[in-house]
Amino acid sequence: MGAQLIDGKATGEASDLAVAARVAAMKAAHRVTPALAVVLVGDDPASHVYVRNKVRRTTATGMDSREFRLPADTSQQALEDQVRALSSDPSVDGILVQLPLPAHLDANAVIACIDPDKDVDGLTETSAGRLVLGRPGLRPCTPAGCVVLAKAALGEIAGAHVVVIGRSILVGKPAALLFLEQNCTVTIAHSRSRDLPAICRSADILVPAVGRPQMVRGDWVADGATVIDVGINRVSAPDRGPDATRLVGDVAFDEVVGHAAHITPVPGGVGPMTIAMLLANTVEAAMMRRRIQH
Ligand code: NDP
Repeated sequence: MGAQLIDGKATGEASDLAVAARVAAMKAAHRVTPALAVVLVGDDPASHVYVRNKVRRTTATGMDSREFRLPADTSQQALEDQVRALSSDPSVDGILVQLPLPAHLDANAVIACIDPDKDVDGLTETSAGRLVLGRPGLRPCTPAGCVVLAKAALGEIAGAHVVVIGRSILVGKPAALLFLEQNCTVTIAHSRSRDLPAICRSADILVPAVGRPQMVRGDWVADGATVIDVGINRVSAPDRGPDATRLVGDVAFDEVVGHAAHITPVPGGVGPMTIAMLLANTVEAAMMRRRIQH
């Protein structure tokens, strides 16, 4: 194996420690405990696992965690009322609505009810506008985690050519803007891009966010490049049993590892950073809302 692994779990834990220190300082100096409200609708087992992890890590950093579990048949009106109530509750610093919502609910309309200053997932139109305009604001968690991991591997990344594959609202577009904010030269590739392998080979930092298992092959990656694999894909694993599955990224890891200098594993790379960035956003939101300086 050539490439060094970028350890998302360790980087996430280091971020959580820094958050915990900021929380302790806020408590000591201002008697304020930042609070994250999590709204979960329905019985999706994966969402319940995610929420349990978020709650556990929120309380581990010393912050308050408030859970609002609503039944699967909750109406649009009732959900919007709940989110609006949290937006106007001065004791709540961050609001997270766990996605996906049950099919009868309009997620965009619910997100629009989140106070942008409490939008710790960075999903509101105001947060997106602040990102585009380069104004202070809460940045989407997964893309923010990609930047942290690239900097953890490389230190300074200004001037690097970053190729993001994918242009989704949740990942690709904000990732491109966040790398631009770091003074990188950014290319956004997508399903209509011509000669994707050649575009990828021109990257110093390659960020696939596609959702296609092992699409990026070894010869798509320049020797010495850094690869931040956002993709999470569940594939069958017949070697582990007839019904067994495993998670793989958008990168053919075994091939790319011989070319890249640094690479994130899947699992254990970008995934663990997402909650770390959520917690960092919550303490940031608490400080901004309460006009507490760093
Ligand atoms: P979307 O499906 O919303 O977007 C996928 C993007 O990939 C689109 O922009 C699409 O292009 C592009 N694409 C699709 N096929 C190709 C192709 N053959 N060549 C080039 N580009 C292509 O997915 P998300 O952005 O929501 O998620 C992407 C991946 O990241 C998924 O695997 C998801 O599970 C993972 N993810 C991981 C997270 C984490 O915490 N690690 C968090 C969120 C997502 P076009 O616009 O032209 O259709």
